[in-house]
Amino acid sequence: MIKIQNLHKSFGNNPVLRGIDLEISQGEVVVIIGPSGSGKSTLLRCLNYLEAPDQGTIEINGFQVDAEKARKQEIRNIRKASAMVFQSYNLFKNKTALENITEALITVKKMSKAEAQLAGDALLTQVGLLEKRDQYPSRLSGGQQQRIGIARAMAVNPHVILFDEPTSALDPELVGEVLSVIRSLAEKHMTMIIVTHEMSFARDVADRVIFMDHGAIIEQGSPEEIFCAPKHERTQRFLKQII
Ligand code: ADP
Ligand code: MG
Repeated sequence: MIKIQNLHKSFGNNPVLRGIDLEISQGEVVVIIGPSGSGKSTLLRCLNYLEAPDQGTIEINGFQVDAEKARKQEIRNIRKASAMVFQSYNLFKNKTALENITEALITVKKMSKAEAQLAGDALLTQVGLLEKRDQYPSRLSGGQQQRIGIARAMAVNPHVILFDEPTSALDPELVGEVLSVIRSLAEKHMTMIIVTHEMSFARDVADRVIFMDHGAIIEQGSPEEIFCAPKHERTQRFLKQII
């Protein structure tokens, strides 16, 4: 369903993605691990076209874009195919939990307010926060804000959800509730790409684990293969440092 070919991105003369090739099937949960600065966030941001890649092609569910001759409409289609969940939630502070979720439904999907609220309530229920629907983000814990962030991402019915370290800004006691929402999406076969440092979660939820270093995919395999028997010396070194 997702096919990335030869994706390159530099910032100035700093090559951050050096030819990423990646195919992901419908319903697959892919976890990306790797050292800080290895290009994980940039890869997700390029997939969502928050950053324009320099070279390569991205295909998501039939929508295609070639970085070197990308048309505006193609970029729009690729952006709509995925949704991002950020480390820092990025909720609208002046909107309630419900309004954060319904915003895109009303402005982008052109739903009526009533229709959007119905969809919003269903999503709030799914992340276990229906009783917080009328609260502003400042009244919610970090874990609750991130669960709203996930509901907001799901609202637009993306083909894939991209998570960039969704729990790393949270106090340790709030990590579990966010991971369990992500786990419930995995059980529903939502296609997801998750950058995380939560190795036990990665082991538990991933169909495939990818190790990135210096802008390249160094090694990939099942969680057992990567965590129990990493082949590449750089993967071994990375795992030793963090476990
Ligand atoms: P990771 O998420 O794996 O920690 P990033 O993708 O954030 O890595 O960053 C990879 C490299 O790209 C780093 O060297 C970082 O400094 C650089 N970088 C990321 N975003 C920008 C940007 N907007 N402008 C300049 N350099 C950037
Ligand atoms: Mg990052």
